[in-house]
Amino acid sequence: METVYFDNNATTRVADEVFEEIKPYFCELYGNPSSMHTFGGQVGIKMREARGKVAALLGCDPSEIIFTGCGTESDNTAINGTLAAYPDKRKVITSRVEHPAVLQVCRELEHKGYTVVEIGVDKKGRLDLTELEEQIDEDTALVTIMYSNNETGVIFPIDKIAELTEDKGVVFHTDAVQTVGKIPLNLSRSNIDLLSISGHKLHAPKGIGVLYVRKGTRLSPYMVGGHQEGGKRAGTENVPGIIGLGKACELAAENIEAENNKVRKLRDKLENAILQRCPDSMLNGDKENRLPNTSNISFEYVEGEAILLMLDKFGICASSGSACTSGSLEPSHVLRAMGVPFTAAHGSIRFSLSRYNTEQEVDYTIEKIPDIINRLRELSPFVTKK
Ligand code: PLP
Repeated sequence: METVYFDNNATTRVADEVFEEIKPYFCELYGNPSSMHTFGGQVGIKMREARGKVAALLGCDPSEIIFTGCGTESDNTAINGTLAAYPDKRKVITSRVEHPAVLQVCRELEHKGYTVVEIGVDKKGRLDLTELEEQIDEDTALVTIMYSNNETGVIFPIDKIAELTEDKGVVFHTDAVQTVGKIPLNLSRSNIDLLSISGHKLHAPKGIGVLYVRKGTRLSPYMVGGHQEGGKRAGTENVPGIIGLGKACELAAENIEAENNKVRKLRDKLENAILQRCPDSMLNGDKENRLPNTSNISFEYVEGEAILLMLDKFGICASSGSACTSGSLEPSHVLRAMGVPFTAAHGSIRFSLSRYNTEQEVDYTIEKIPDIINRLRELSPFVTKK
């Protein structure tokens, strides 16, 4: 077996159909879409079509789509652009389990004198909605809560939160970087004001993102210096990225249900077999309200990094919730927020699948993992030998 890629929440393979679609935009159709000539103008037309495809997947109007450079830029723009548009309001509400593209921006705001409230989650990673509702007050400019979590796949009740913020007249942003393309969304039936997407999470290239801005939402531009994207995001557009994202959204819209079923079946087979065959292993996150492709499993008494290295030897790519910071292994902030015990949080592995995974890959991984865990436990100082 060559590479078994179970790290699709980190990034995805570009779809063949997407790759074919973007090829002409490097050496043939390389005009600037803002140019007056027909050569550039034809690119502008294709870009409009791509915008329409993204909007169709989201159920919104093409004029509500702003192309950005990545999910991180979309998140930064949503937060900083909202605060700049509401200079008298000084409070932001987020959650403890956000991606750093949101959490770090919010934490920096604290240094600038903003009040930042991080809403907690329970042991299954579910958001405390009562706390959220209590925290929204007159001073609140923005609520920014992710749609689904990148580590556990847990899906938050975003439409409910959007109703709440709508009632209270507060702007609501959601980081849907891990959600779009994995489960169906319909923004025409939602009160979400701002929503972030990243192309490379749904089989489009890296370096393209989207910020959905609902009509009427006040937002100051973050990047200035050009008229592109209706003056909301300056800079010559990443044309191949935009065309590729349009195609990826079209593919997702056509196939989302069949692919969900396929991916969920494979994920469940992998997850159930691991949990059955490895003693002292447990699922992290809400089993029910979860992305169909993600499984986060803790193996007690072993380090996630050691498991990853052993998996890597067999060509299996996954990722660990821990991050090696300044020489000490810090367990993931998401698992800590969920109260996952220290020994389990350190040994957590995220498997994230895509439509390109096969049953053979799942079977191969199921065969390798119990041995890997047993071997590591034999070396672990936390396991008492009988
Ligand atoms: N938000 C979430 C939930 C993510 O998982 C990621 C990437 O892993 C990002 C934001 C950042 O997206 P990008 O890599 O496009 O900047």
